Amino acid sequence: MSKQAKVEIIAIGNELLLGDVLDTNTNWLCKRITGVGGQVTRAAMIRDDTVAIADEIRSALDRLPDLIITTGGLGPTGDDITHQAVAEAVARPLKLHAEALTLVKARYETLAEKGYIKDSALTEARKKMAYLPKGATAVANPVGTAPAAVLQIGVSTLVSLPGVPEEMKGIYEETLPPTLRAIFGDSYYQERAIIAHCGDESSLAPILAEVVDAHPEVYIKSRAKRYGPEVRILLTLSAAGDARDEVERRIQSALDALIAVLATAGFGVEDQPPD
Ligand code: ATP
Ligand code: MG
Repeated sequence: MSKQAKVEIIAIGNELLLGDVLDTNTNWLCKRITGVGGQVTRAAMIRDDTVAIADEIRSALDRLPDLIITTGGLGPTGDDITHQAVAEAVARPLKLHAEALTLVKARYETLAEKGYIKDSALTEARKKMAYLPKGATAVANPVGTAPAAVLQIGVSTLVSLPGVPEEMKGIYEETLPPTLRAIFGDSYYQERAIIAHCGDESSLAPILAEVVDAHPEVYIKSRAKRYGPEVRILLTLSAAGDARDEVERRIQSALDALIAVLATAGFGVEDQPPD
């Protein structure tokens, strides 16, 4: 195995330091990074203050980690200043990023089509989310509106993710994997998914907890695919490690256990159809 990738996490937001919101993002990221063989060497919580964030990013860069992840402060409001702070830390200008703008525009159009918002117009506040530090790559946000940004600074990859946990996870799992593989590449990662049919989503919780407890090395995620009387829950199992056989064996064992408990509870199971 090549050297273990070193990672620093910077969670940004006044609400975290006021004690209003618990920093679950860092904990989630720590688990995922450890799961693919990386090592989180440091994590910090910083206020919505450009100078404080820029200072923290500069000191993180001085330690030459392979990856720095920030969470929070990518949104449309004035206190969302992460891109500004990154730009200052690495002495690059903020620039309107064409691809980021396309992503933001497309998200608002989808939201308007679904009737969640009245108007998809690109207001200044919305456009603000497409200003990235020069040289950054935009990464689509499958859940919310603000794209993430990836910036290579020397040996370090700097990734800025949104603060809303579902958005942060959505990007990490769905659109960031190519960037993550370039950093944690050696570790074998496998994911398998099934769909459970259950009348009531809450009845799934104790079943899942049982399997999760018995298979701590496998990460099990559930997400509702369809609500209403015919609830469908997508259950994703993932694991990582150096040995492919071992990873596959662990996932298979957790999957067998999951299917067995679902059957005992009277829930149907189907394979996840390909996208
Ligand atoms: P948005 O585009 O939705 O504004 P954002 O990137 O600007 O996202 P923030 O405004 O920093 O994110 O945070 C939005 C919300 O996400 C916060 O009010 C808080 O509830 C939650 N949040 C932020 N950071 C964390 C964290 N580290 N852990 C858990 N929840 C968080
Ligand atoms: Mg915000």
